[in-house]
Amino acid sequence: MGKKADERVVSESVHITEKKKGRLSSVTAVIGKSATLEMAAKAKAMNERGIGVISFSAGEPDFDTPKRIKEAAKKAIDLGFTKYTDSSGIKELKTAIRQKFLRENNLHYDEANIAVTPGAKYAIYAILQSIISPGDEVVIPVPYWVSYVSMVKLSRGVPVFCYPAEAFGFRLTLADITQVLTEKTRAVIINTPNNPTGAVYRSSDLEEIVNYLAGRDIYVISDEIYERLTYGTAAHISAASVVSEKLRRNVIVVNGFSKAYAMTGWRIGYAAGPRDVMERMKHFLDHTTSNTNTITMYAAVEALNGPQTDVEQMVGKFDRRRRFIFEEVSKLPRVTCIRPDGAFYLFANFQQYLGGSFGDRKIATTVDLANLLLEEAHVAVVPGEAFGAPGYIRFSYATSLDNIAEGLENMKHLLGEISFSE
Ligand code: PMP
Repeated sequence: MGKKADERVVSESVHITEKKKGRLSSVTAVIGKSATLEMAAKAKAMNERGIGVISFSAGEPDFDTPKRIKEAAKKAIDLGFTKYTDSSGIKELKTAIRQKFLRENNLHYDEANIAVTPGAKYAIYAILQSIISPGDEVVIPVPYWVSYVSMVKLSRGVPVFCYPAEAFGFRLTLADITQVLTEKTRAVIINTPNNPTGAVYRSSDLEEIVNYLAGRDIYVISDEIYERLTYGTAAHISAASVVSEKLRRNVIVVNGFSKAYAMTGWRIGYAAGPRDVMERMKHFLDHTTSNTNTITMYAAVEALNGPQTDVEQMVGKFDRRRRFIFEEVSKLPRVTCIRPDGAFYLFANFQQYLGGSFGDRKIATTVDLANLLLEEAHVAVVPGEAFGAPGYIRFSYATSLDNIAEGLENMKHLLGEISFSE
């Protein structure tokens, strides 16, 4: 090939590369893949190959949606409730949500303060899109639920991390937050009961934090999706209930149906907050989703208004598993963990395994350890790295007591074979 032809080839390939670069958005490029979904996919692939994997990685209840809720959905179809509605939800559901806030949280909201969304996840995203301007900082306590960081970035905000102490049960304190507040801080995300730690904030925790922030016009986004899942003497307190009516304009509560009513696949959640934020949120919904599925919305009315015995039974079962898994994981060698009070997760400290080896396999991180557990013990867990907290492992106990017992037994054997050079 002559020089001219060479140059043409080079310039064409540069052109192609440049074109390739421009093919995908630089905005969505900032979000990574979900480590929790990745682990679940690996476990699924192994199961499909006939290798029975015991999974502690589920982010959803292993119970079926209660029958009464399914029946309400069928009825909605038969009655023809299958058309567009207001983007922020049907009146019946907003009324049921308003009554729920009054009954369970002693909070007075109007329907205009409430927006229904396709999942609590989308409520958080819509809130962030409604309040964040480019460069605004959003404080996220570590360990965090995986999606907060990506959603802040997608809203052109800047995630800023703070680190609640393990010794304080990973519950956030005001001192943790004030260390990272700047003039650009626009919001702080709180999650109680917590994924992944199982921590449940006390009212004294919340009073201090929420009054301080709301009093300085910093929004508190309170993700309360696990509200119904608390155990023992722990009780859920809504962040909105610890401040005055006036300061409540800076508090936005997120909740939903996925966890309390085993409705993850139905896709429905909601937010309650000040009118201006809700109005902006409604415009955002108008143009990105329109209304949440109508059939799901009618089912959700039944979920809130009907008898709650199914929820109570589910909580009872989770509680038995929680006590069992806490006891058993605490007995594993070189592992420490804090008793979870809520949600369906246990977050255990595996730092003492870092630096160990299994045969010629080195364990440098909890990702290495999680991969080892999956491949050699056929147990799926989620490494702390997924939540910004290397050195930890999250166990979901949304699985049967038998599975928990067998999975932990397999794990114990494998951990016993890990050697340490010291
Ligand atoms: N917040 C937290 C802390 C969660 O764990 C989840 C679900 N994994 C959600 C929000 C989202 O719930 P939904 O299914 O309602 O979108």
